[in-house]
Amino acid sequence: MSDPSDADEMAALTTTLKRYLERRQRARLRYLPKVLPPLSQAATPREVTNIMAGTELDMLAETHVALQADSLDGLRAAIGDCRRCKLCSGRTNLVFGVGHPRAKLMFVGEGPGRDEDLKGEPFVGRAGQLLTDIITKGMGLNREEVYICNVVKCRPPENRNPEPDEVAACEPFLKKQIDIVRPDIIVGLGKFAVQTLLNSKVPIGKLRGVWASYHGIKLMPTFHPAYLLRNPADKKLVWEDIKQVIKVMHGENV
Ligand code: URA
Repeated sequence: MSDPSDADEMAALTTTLKRYLERRQRARLRYLPKVLPPLSQAATPREVTNIMAGTELDMLAETHVALQADSLDGLRAAIGDCRRCKLCSGRTNLVFGVGHPRAKLMFVGEGPGRDEDLKGEPFVGRAGQLLTDIITKGMGLNREEVYICNVVKCRPPENRNPEPDEVAACEPFLKKQIDIVRPDIIVGLGKFAVQTLLNSKVPIGKLRGVWASYHGIKLMPTFHPAYLLRNPADKKLVWEDIKQVIKVMHGENV
């Protein structure tokens, strides 16, 4: 801090940051890591390395950097030990996605459950077994040939629905995964996946079974496998949707 205008600038920055943090606290967004020292004991300018570390602005910048990745491994590495939303505090593993990095067919679910959180892999519990049966027995494919991921990458507590701020924090990574894999077809599993991809509030019961488009990629909305475990009579509807997907994979026009 060699010149008085540097000191003024630092004072103005400190005031802005203090107000910003107070606004965050009033909004009760306390899940941000508390990496900043109390402002009353603010570090001297010489000790400040990254004054924005841990703030929302810093996380936005990190998300922006992650979105420059050009491979799934690069994206996963750039997401890192994610702290961008409150789901981070309850997770065992971040569940990024599995499968072929250039899969023609991609399945998108809602978010990891308990089994997925423990294993770090999507759709490995009971609903996952049903999805695996759809892929292997129904479509004659194996899990390694397709790509499977979720809208949110960390398990919501007690398997509750993901909240809008959690979807908003994670959605850019789903979109980037789709951008990197560039599948021909996406199967949207359940309300959250389909409504997120289509940016729509139309109920899944109305959307399912009707081809839609996600930025030019064919999207088939269908029911979530967990819903089918509770409503097995609707399995036949999902089978109708999957048969449409198989036809398109075999080159039939929609
Ligand atoms: N339900 C989902 O939506 N995703 C999973 O990975 C598992 C269950």
